[in-house]
Amino acid sequence: MVDIQEILEKEGIKTYLDDKYLYDETPEFVRVEPSRDIVVVKPETTEEVSRIMKIASSRRIKVFIRGGGTGLSCGAVPTESGIVLSTEKMKEIEIDSENFCAVCGAGVTLGELIKKAESCGLSFPPHPGSEEATVGGMVSTNAGGVRAMKYGVMRNYVLGIVAVLPDGEIIRLGGKLIKNNAGYNLMHLLIGSEGTLAVITEITVRLLPPMQKTATLAIPFKSVDGAIQAVVEILRAGLMPLALEYIEKDAIEIGEGVSGRRWPPRDRANLMVIIEAGSENELIDQAEKIEKICKGFGASDIFLATGVREQRDLLMVRSLIYEGIKRDVLEILDVSVPVAAIPEYIKKCNEVAERMGFRVINYGHAGDGNIHQHPLKGKFKPEEYDNLKKEFFRIAKSLGGTITGEHGVGAVKKKELRELLPVTEYDLMVRIKRAFDPLNILNPGKVLDI
Ligand SMILES: Cc1cc2nc3c(=O)[nH]c(=O)nc-3n(C[C@H](O)[C@H](O)[C@H](O)COP(=O)(O)OP(=O)(O)OC[C@H]3O[C@@H](n4cnc5c(N)ncnc54)[C@H](O)[C@@H]3O)c2cc1C
Repeated sequence: MVDIQEILEKEGIKTYLDDKYLYDETPEFVRVEPSRDIVVVKPETTEEVSRIMKIASSRRIKVFIRGGGTGLSCGAVPTESGIVLSTEKMKEIEIDSENFCAVCGAGVTLGELIKKAESCGLSFPPHPGSEEATVGGMVSTNAGGVRAMKYGVMRNYVLGIVAVLPDGEIIRLGGKLIKNNAGYNLMHLLIGSEGTLAVITEITVRLLPPMQKTATLAIPFKSVDGAIQAVVEILRAGLMPLALEYIEKDAIEIGEGVSGRRWPPRDRANLMVIIEAGSENELIDQAEKIEKICKGFGASDIFLATGVREQRDLLMVRSLIYEGIKRDVLEILDVSVPVAAIPEYIKKCNEVAERMGFRVINYGHAGDGNIHQHPLKGKFKPEEYDNLKKEFFRIAKSLGGTITGEHGVGAVKKKELRELLPVTEYDLMVRIKRAFDPLNILNPGKVLDI
């Protein structure tokens, strides 16, 4: 890649060569092959990004944007010769307490944003699993996480975006406004666009007052049906927990093994319910209502954690499940179905998996219908796994669901997106991509098969 390096260096842009920019966190089995013919740039300002994009578009050089590299669908992987544009040096962060917002450089990490907001007596509730994810990456993937049910996904927090178009033009969308109905909402078009339409360089995100006190319930059920009926009833009762997670017994045992922490009594299907309230009394009141509902659906041995340490232990078991299986998983599927359809989805998928000889570990965000399925490695041919995945997606679609609720399409679900969407919708997406990026230089071959 000497040429591109020379071109950039001649224009005063510092370049780097480093293999760590070739991959993200996508499991190896489904990873796409990266191109090693790349140079890395680490701009610090929007203007610098604009200069890089002007050079890239005038020379038809492909550009792959990278945030924290925690993505699970190869979105940031450079699949062709070109430039990897890392946002890691775009770290400015300014809190505006009067307008309840933060203005962040794209490379600010989730961990850094949370810390800064808390230091100003505010909070940033969305919490996708990795605090190494960047705000730019979370906006580009419209990230969710365990608190999405109560607090929404990234889209609900973005007030403004500064972005650089593939030709180097800078656009400023939204601002510190809560309401903005002036024309088509281009800002929301960029949210979830996975680095295919523009380079997001600065984001204004909403902040909220500080989080309240929490308590955590671990609730075992004999059946998935009972657990999910309880979820529906908890929501119907107007209780809106901070998190409502479904975890199968096997998954708990894996999390226990990695964390070294004990989960209280468990059964085949388990819920982890985190509740939030202004006082201990309110917490107890909510917990009792949830316990009563769950007992009505066959739960017993309910454990209520109110202390910081015992709550942290439960969260550690849940958070470390993935660490325990990541070397053994083929892929992390994150299908999204209507909440009430979860039992049928899991039942049908388990039947298919058993018939085809796959073991699948299930857990996920029961409160919003986003189940994470982890098919494990075993003895089979790659095309057999393809068939399994196809069946899972077909079942999801038949229940009114979709193929990804959080992790996005990236390079690994392009074919499936094409199969999922009606032709008219898919073609509209292609035309939108061409309107933003007529030369197809920005993250080519991601999301859309063009
Ligand atoms: C342990 C673990 C747990 C996770 N849990 C969750 C979860 O609960 N919920 C969830 O939603 N996700 C989860 N993820 C996935 C991942 O953290 C999110 O997708 C996250 O939003 C990616 O951010 P990133 O900065 O790492 O982006 P990257 O992986 O670097 O990039 C992701 C995509 O965004 C694009 N992109 C990055 N920055 C920009 C920018 N500035 N402008 C334009 N495009 C850009 C890239 O080109 C790529 O297409 C998890 C990942 C891990 C490893």
